Formats: sequence, structure tokens, C-alpha cells
Amino acid sequence: MSEKNKVETPVRPSGMELIYLYPCPHCKREVPLISPTRPDRVRCDACGRTFPIVPIHERSNRFVKLMTANGLAAVDPDFM
Ligand SMILES: [Zn+2]
Repeated sequence: MSEKNKVETPVRPSGMELIYLYPCPHCKREVPLISPTRPDRVRCDACGRTFPIVPIHERSNRFVKLMTANGLAAVDPDFM
């Protein structure tokens, strides 16, 4: 069988990350950040200005990942 005729098996996620939305104080764009666990200054991808952010507690992130088996429990049951 040639590569073209093979049925492709859909791929499941192997992990997950939580994305937090920080509203830019300058233009109100919600800037997406992947679990920022340290206080930092970030740049808005819309207006280009920077602002300081409040970090996420690492323990809360670990809890959500544990409760969803690192995202696997969130997979559509029709595809399990
Ligand atoms: Zn902005």
C-alpha cells in the first residue's frame, strides 16, 4: 500500500498547558500567556507596549493538570 492510501490515525494530545488572558492596560487587548509563574513585564502583541503582570501559582496549575490527567480526560469521548 502506498503512503497516500494509508488511513491516518487521529493524534491525541500528549500534554496540556493553561493559557491565561491578561488585559493590556493600554489597549485592552487580552494578551494570552502560558502559565506565567513569575512576576514579569510582558509586551502586548497588539499595541507593543509593556506592562507588569501578577503571576500564577504553580500549585494551581499542577492541580488542574492532575485533575485532567494532563489533558487526556478532556479528550472528546467519541474519540477515545
Ligand atoms: Zn496593548
